[in-house]
Amino acid sequence: MQFPTLTDRWQLAPSSAHEVACLQPLSRPRQTSGASIKMRLKMPQKLLKTAHYIELGSYQHWPVLLPQRIRLYTYEQAPLFLRENPYITDGYRAHLPSKLCLKSIFILSNETVNIWSHLLGFLLFFFLGVNDLSSLLPASRANREDYVIYAIGLFCFQVCMLCSVGYHLFSCHRSEKTCMRWLALDYAGISVGILGCYVPGIFYAFYCNAFWRQVYLLTVLSMILAVFCAQVHPSYLSNDWKVIRMTIFSCVAGIGVIPALHWVWLNGGLTSDIVQLFFPRVIVMYLIAGSAFLFYVTKIPERYFPGQVNYLGASHQLWHILVVFMFYWWHQTAVHIMHFRHSQPCPAWSRKN
Ligand SMILES: [Zn+2]
Repeated sequence: MQFPTLTDRWQLAPSSAHEVACLQPLSRPRQTSGASIKMRLKMPQKLLKTAHYIELGSYQHWPVLLPQRIRLYTYEQAPLFLRENPYITDGYRAHLPSKLCLKSIFILSNETVNIWSHLLGFLLFFFLGVNDLSSLLPASRANREDYVIYAIGLFCFQVCMLCSVGYHLFSCHRSEKTCMRWLALDYAGISVGILGCYVPGIFYAFYCNAFWRQVYLLTVLSMILAVFCAQVHPSYLSNDWKVIRMTIFSCVAGIGVIPALHWVWLNGGLTSDIVQLFFPRVIVMYLIAGSAFLFYVTKIPERYFPGQVNYLGASHQLWHILVVFMFYWWHQTAVHIMHFRHSQPCPAWSRKN
């Protein structure tokens, strides 16, 4: 593998709007030496227009596997709509057509870990789904409802992962409108992911209480629909609505405390067997969700180490990894509670519901 050097940055290739964009003053290479400026001035205009440039920020020693037409930008050079986190100072992809956005998955940028964490997360939930439907559920003597609930939960997790991958892959698109569409899809994906947690959670928690199960499932569905409707609002993606967006998502996730406490009360309080078995798992779930949200909002650790975690260890990457872990944890909890419910008949007091 040849690592790029300053002298082999120029290569012949067909001209495109993207390449011309790369040669605009805004996107001038950060580390352009005197020699390369002279070389550029001497280059024939045609060659200049068709030259490919690759810039790897402060990580020039990292291998570039495929695309030779992607350069990275500093925070100041990045387009305004990408300047969301000033503590991530370098490694921005920008001004790319769709094809190069896709190819950029193979270079190291400040989005690489974000893309791959949820791409691998998608594969994890896809194969968990295959395993559940083909082996776990048949072995657990599951009924049709179990199959439907597992399929919904894992499908929601996969949708959430794919929407996130799509946004982080295409956020560097040359069209701001395209980038914003993917961002809206990313937010919609988070709502779908939350729905994927609620559906199996409520279904198995209120397995013996058909009335409350329906009440909570309908409440959650209407809540997620309301969030989708809010996303249609033209200001939803704007910076002015940042706090409102955060508040909506915290409420949608946090409101789950109500059915959780109701479930504890219905089952005879903290001393009952089922509560002692599963309530700690609910608390761990909320602890993971809370810490993920905290990293997301506070931008820790890059806040304290600006520019040092551009590529690895940034808050958004931690948020991504914790979300995958949270979904996996909740899936395993659903497996445990399903086994419990299949082995323990519903108590007599609940049958009248
Ligand atoms: Zn993300």
